[in-house]
Amino acid sequence: MIDGKAVAADVRAEVKAEVAKLDRAPGLATVLVGDDPASHVYVGNKIRACEEVGIRSIHHGLGDGTPQDELLELVGELNADDQVDGILVQLPLPDQIDQDELVGAIDPAKDVDGLTATSAGLLAQGRPGLVPCTPQGVMELLRVAGVDVEGAEAVIVGRSILVGRPLSALLTNASATVTVCHSRTRDLGAVCARADILIAAVGSPRMVRGDWVKAGAAVIDVGINRTDDGLVGDVDYGAAIERAGAITPVPGGVGPMTIAMLLRNTLVAARAAERDSAERAV
Ligand code: NAP
Repeated sequence: MIDGKAVAADVRAEVKAEVAKLDRAPGLATVLVGDDPASHVYVGNKIRACEEVGIRSIHHGLGDGTPQDELLELVGELNADDQVDGILVQLPLPDQIDQDELVGAIDPAKDVDGLTATSAGLLAQGRPGLVPCTPQGVMELLRVAGVDVEGAEAVIVGRSILVGRPLSALLTNASATVTVCHSRTRDLGAVCARADILIAAVGSPRMVRGDWVKAGAAVIDVGINRTDDGLVGDVDYGAAIERAGAITPVPGGVGPMTIAMLLRNTLVAARAAERDSAERAV
């Protein structure tokens, strides 16, 4: 079992130590529009995690009816603010907001969620940039578990912009042979059964069956589903653990990695900003 909680705690401790070496505390701006209770909990968790590692958070909570222009203006101000190293716009946004335009307005140097088209393009081209947090967390779990990615057959179930697509780029960049599955994939079980590394990011409780898992495969379950049995993943854990070489539980697998990687991205952005300002001073 891959212990995501323990790996995430190590990442947070490493970020805290590195933050202490910077000239000034990094700043993460969080933008939350509306009153979705889950989003409030997520943002609250992120702010608390920042405090624990010495990252300053600057929170902007805005009403449900806030117009697009006002949000664009705020993002512009945060882009220009030297004290802000990372900008996080909590998704989903209310219906009147054009999410692509708003996220696209974030300076790629401060795009700690890695969701702008620029960040996605850099990742697709295998160039340095800020990488989305959950997929980056998956790669960290594979690394810590000692999974050999190079040359491995990797199958990802799910092709979202948030998880499946960036993960396919990360695994390709790490020299895996990658297959991305989705709702139109034919004979999903047979495709999954080829995988040395099987990643489920679907949002459907226990849909990846134990007999789809190749003996010895590494299985990473990104799914978070609230059911009558509590939180469960996209993988039938009880059956899959019998065949997998390594597997993440839900909860306690990928979940804790997402915030840890957000902290790491904020550190990376702050370091780059410090380097830039030192170069400008020369
Ligand atoms: P999403 O945007 O809804 O995408 C789901 C993907 O699954 C889509 O590509 C969809 O295919 C595919 N899919 C749906 N039904 C399928 C089926 N029967 N067979 C094969 N593929 C199917 O979801 P997401 O944002 O990527 O999130 C996926 C899961 O991860 C959710 O449970 C979410 O809560 C969780 N999550 C966890 C974290 C974390 O921190 N651990 C972070 C993000 C997401 P189409 O493209 O064809 O529709």
